[in-house]
Amino acid sequence: MQRARNAMTEEELRDWAVASGFPAYRGSQLFHFLHVERGTDLDAAHVLPQAVRAAAGALGTHPLTAELVRRSEDGSAKYLYRLFDGAHIETVYMPYEDRTTLCVSSQVGCRMGCSFCASTKAPFGRNLGADEILEQVYQTERAEGRTIDHIVLMGIGEPLDNLDEVLRFIRLVTDPKGKGMSARNITLSTSGLVPGIYRLIDEAPSITLAISLHATSDERRARTMPVARRYSIAEILKATDAYFDATGRRVSFEYVLIRGENDREEDIRWMAQHMRGAGRHVNLIPLNRIDEFDQEAADRAAMEHFAASLEKAGVHVSVRHRRGADIDAACGQLRVLYEGVGGRA
Ligand code: SAH
Repeated sequence: MQRARNAMTEEELRDWAVASGFPAYRGSQLFHFLHVERGTDLDAAHVLPQAVRAAAGALGTHPLTAELVRRSEDGSAKYLYRLFDGAHIETVYMPYEDRTTLCVSSQVGCRMGCSFCASTKAPFGRNLGADEILEQVYQTERAEGRTIDHIVLMGIGEPLDNLDEVLRFIRLVTDPKGKGMSARNITLSTSGLVPGIYRLIDEAPSITLAISLHATSDERRARTMPVARRYSIAEILKATDAYFDATGRRVSFEYVLIRGENDREEDIRWMAQHMRGAGRHVNLIPLNRIDEFDQEAADRAAMEHFAASLEKAGVHVSVRHRRGADIDAACGQLRVLYEGVGGRA
């Protein structure tokens, strides 16, 4: 896939300008037009001479089209975006009083195969380009008329399975000459691809890292998350400790509570013992039921007991509120509904 003009860093656009016979600053002006003015029609880039516009036009883009928007009673909205090649992804918009969060997809489908997650129920399509991740932010901001100040890479896909493009996206969205978002406000959630965690230490040390843990032993974890057969919990904890030591950023452990599966007393004991300490934080999440997964969410009392027990043991713990349950906001659910299981990806 040709690199789209809005996937290029300012430096790359400056190099491109020079290579195309223009002064380097034309590349900077193009970057400003795309990422600050949010121009989509190059004819509106009045600062650029016609010849530069024509050359920039030849670089191309991969536009997104909002095909469906579902709005929840709680104010959140789920966008189904169609990509230039006809594939679909989902983006969830969550306005709060003090912040505006966007949950973005990183791939068309997902290869991880977690049994409770809708993202794997339609076939895997392809990686998203950095521009396609960025456009979810820009287009949703435009549609909602509100600035997005927090991004979670928790939509469809495994970000560490598409790390080059995800890193490029992070570089673009945090560029002070572009949107200039704070890297701290970007959360990357992973099912635990260990080599990718080590790469983040060097290449994205200021973001917030979240691990989808969901079980307290490798055997149990492998029952719902096939990736557990490739990387053990011990290897993940070693990597997240290295991440915390190197970056000082506390790592968040996501734990979807499934009744009878991972809400047992022995799970509480293990979590209390292993999740203590400054570098770790536990986020308990109610399971969002999908049809293909017949297990039940832990009830409210079990969830409160789990949270209170960890708190008593000195674990930093929070409970994630369910948002957008009425609009199938759990990742991949809308794409599955739309394309049908086994449908075109
Ligand atoms: N692949 C990445 C990011 C996408 S999933 C990862 O695995 O972390 C984002 C979060 O939603 C993960 O913590 C995932 O486990 C959780 N999730 C997936 N399906 C869910 C469901 N049905 N109910 C609640 N959370 C779910």
